[in-house]
Amino acid sequence: MGKLIIISAPSGTGKSTIISHIINDESLRLAFSVSATTRQPREGEVDGVDYYYMSVEEFERRVQADEFAEYQQVYEGRYYGTLKSEIERIMDQGRNVVLDIDVLGGINVKKIYGDRALALYILPPSIEALRERLVGRGKDSAEEIERRVAKAQFELGYVDAYDTSVVNDDLAVAIEQVRDIVDKFVNQ
Ligand code: ADP
Ligand code: 5GP
Repeated sequence: MGKLIIISAPSGTGKSTIISHIINDESLRLAFSVSATTRQPREGEVDGVDYYYMSVEEFERRVQADEFAEYQQVYEGRYYGTLKSEIERIMDQGRNVVLDIDVLGGINVKKIYGDRALALYILPPSIEALRERLVGRGKDSAEEIERRVAKAQFELGYVDAYDTSVVNDDLAVAIEQVRDIVDKFVNQ
């Protein structure tokens, strides 16, 4: 039976970068859970790969139809959610599910799946480093960056609700720490 690895972090911490380095490690048998979102694709993002992009109307219709394992309005007017069908699709392949979801969604999934889920929190070295990374990524407007930094202060208050945490200061070190934690969890 497949397991779930919930990976949460304030936006800009480096979560996607770390996940991209471990996702194809065949000893971990991982597959990425593609979330649904109502936000616009960023440059280079692909529908069905990074997210399933949909209108607010379609998202709300799917909420009514009980198609989500969890969903949150992560930013005002922007919904993000994990479709039950996505978790089932990955489990049916006999793989472990990696969920890149916000802290409240992560806590909800942990409650549903208990010991079958590992909740891992990735921390930025500081708020200032986080802002620099968001600016350096060059994908969000100045206003959007300030919204994400403000949200980070709130999200960092939830680290204790997670099973474990890793600080992403030196990227190579953080990747190895995450790989090790996931390996112990899925291969124990
Ligand atoms: P997230 O998925 O958490 O929003 P990203 O993976 O998109 O974050 O990373 C945000 C930016 O920070 C990217 O430009 C990435 O290259 C950079 N980054 C990631 N890890 C580090 C690190 N340890 N040190 C410096 N920059 C980093
Ligand atoms: P971004 O817009 O930077 O891709 O993601 C913004 C935030 O939404 C991140 O914290 C990300 O983890 C979160 N997120 C992405 N997908 C989901 C989801 O399915 N559910 C929840 N609750 N949060 C999600």
